[in-house]
Amino acid sequence: MAMKRIAIIGGGAAGLGAAYFLQGQQAADGSTCQCTVFEKNQHFGGNALTAYLGDKVWEKPFADLGVNDFNKKTYTTFDAILSELKARNYPVAYAPLLDTTTFYVPPGFGSDVSYTMKELQNPDENPDKPYLESFKRQFKQFEDVAYKVLTEPKYFRMTVDEFIADQGFTEQFALWNLKARIQNMYYIDDRGPGGMPIYGVMKYYHLQEGLGDRETAAARDTAGRSTTRMYFQNGASSWIHALEQYLRNVARVELRPGAEAMARFDGGTWTVLPMHGGGNFGSFDVVISAVYAESVGAVIAGGATNLAAGVASRFRYSDSLSVVHDFEDVMPVRGQRSTYNIVINPPDRQQLRPYVINYVANMHQGRNDDGPPFVSLCPITPVPNEDVRQMWDWGGMQRKVMASAFLRHNTLSYDNLIGQSALQSVQGTNNLYFTGGWTIGAGLHEEVLRQGQMLSKMICGTYEKHHSEHPDPDDPGYVPRHIRETRPDMSEA
Ligand SMILES: Cc1cc2nc3c(=O)[nH]c(=O)nc-3n(C[C@H](O)[C@H](O)[C@H](O)COP(=O)(O)OP(=O)(O)OC[C@H]3O[C@@H](n4cnc5c(N)ncnc54)[C@H](O)[C@@H]3O)c2cc1C
Repeated sequence: MAMKRIAIIGGGAAGLGAAYFLQGQQAADGSTCQCTVFEKNQHFGGNALTAYLGDKVWEKPFADLGVNDFNKKTYTTFDAILSELKARNYPVAYAPLLDTTTFYVPPGFGSDVSYTMKELQNPDENPDKPYLESFKRQFKQFEDVAYKVLTEPKYFRMTVDEFIADQGFTEQFALWNLKARIQNMYYIDDRGPGGMPIYGVMKYYHLQEGLGDRETAAARDTAGRSTTRMYFQNGASSWIHALEQYLRNVARVELRPGAEAMARFDGGTWTVLPMHGGGNFGSFDVVISAVYAESVGAVIAGGATNLAAGVASRFRYSDSLSVVHDFEDVMPVRGQRSTYNIVINPPDRQQLRPYVINYVANMHQGRNDDGPPFVSLCPITPVPNEDVRQMWDWGGMQRKVMASAFLRHNTLSYDNLIGQSALQSVQGTNNLYFTGGWTIGAGLHEEVLRQGQMLSKMICGTYEKHHSEHPDPDDPGYVPRHIRETRPDMSEA
């Protein structure tokens, strides 16, 4: 039987996900898809990376350096893959995480703002924090308007700052809660959250936390754990490991770790070569780029349309050093700690943006233990060198670092959202396709997996291009497709 040889360059969730959907599929021309995944590191997974701190891999104690959770209700594609892995004897263990948040100004920064979301819900019990009363009201308003932001055209082109004005939120609430929370997302850049598209932000919260879907957002057990937000009981790397095993042993995908690759278009076929040094990895009918946008120029030689190359070159990245440590002083005081602890930088320290989040690994793993290890995501750029030095020297932090990794995420701007939709029109030109976090929405696991599924249909000739939707502002019942897809009860709408 004829083979359609497919080279996937990049072995993060996007590249592996594309292989999952493509391998063994029959294309319209009768050929069968055979995938090879090239990954430059010795391990797969990219931003899904766990530091195992004990004697054994896949066991506690561990801390996730990057990817750490998913929402079982809204991550429908991901959930289906986990079910398939389980059915094939590669189960991935997951359980509800303790979904709590503290907002605080770090010690010595001249302010004593510090409150937990639990305190925000009970302002009467915290008379020493007079701001909580109005924060509670505004927070509820934010949750209530979420569904409208996702569905009403009015919000599609509104920035976060415009949204704040539209809602009449106070400056204090914006700075000490809303922006701090948005700033804490993984894909914000040095321009701060004010100019980000509120629709993109809300879509992220919809997928991650179920915002806009009251049932999902409110789902809590008696201990306050979200019953839909899950952590990986053996670390995020364990899910990548399960997928890798399945791809290698069951689907028979060729996996090539330690192979930094590039693809050259030879006017009809593609040749995949090592990025450095001589030799070649063979010729392929189709190439899927699953690398960072900014790497596309170096990884794809010829074959990319000007539009694809132009779109890719416009994406910006936010870099962070993810550090596992036991440095108590960067955390809120004991008793005030939550799973996620969001630093509010006072104005004179705002060069430390885009964000700092410090989370407690034990609490993330569902336990009521607010001791170390902690994970801090420190921005690398544009922090001045002196500040980086202080972060590391601060009380001897570097002596207590247990693990660290350098992670990258594309930022979310209007330019990017427009670029993503333009990209769809050039998918498949010269048998070249694009996936990865930058190609779809906020680039969460669920989104890159959906992108892989769509590419599989495109490559096999079964993709039905949807006409673009034109929301009717006068139709109160209109629900966009992305919401319908994650709400089974609306699939008929
Ligand atoms: C700190 C952080 C936390 C996050 N947490 C979550 C979360 O909890 N849940 C969630 O859904 N999403 C989360 N995300 C988003 C996450 O990035 C995406 O969900 C997803 O993992 C992106 O996958 P990717 O394959 O596109 O990119 P990456 O994970 O970056 O993978 C790209 C891969 O390509 C490889 N590569 C690059 N160049 C080459 C080359 N020339 N040849 C071969 N290989 C190459 C890289 O080594 C890397 O392995 C988080 C992101 C960050 C940064």
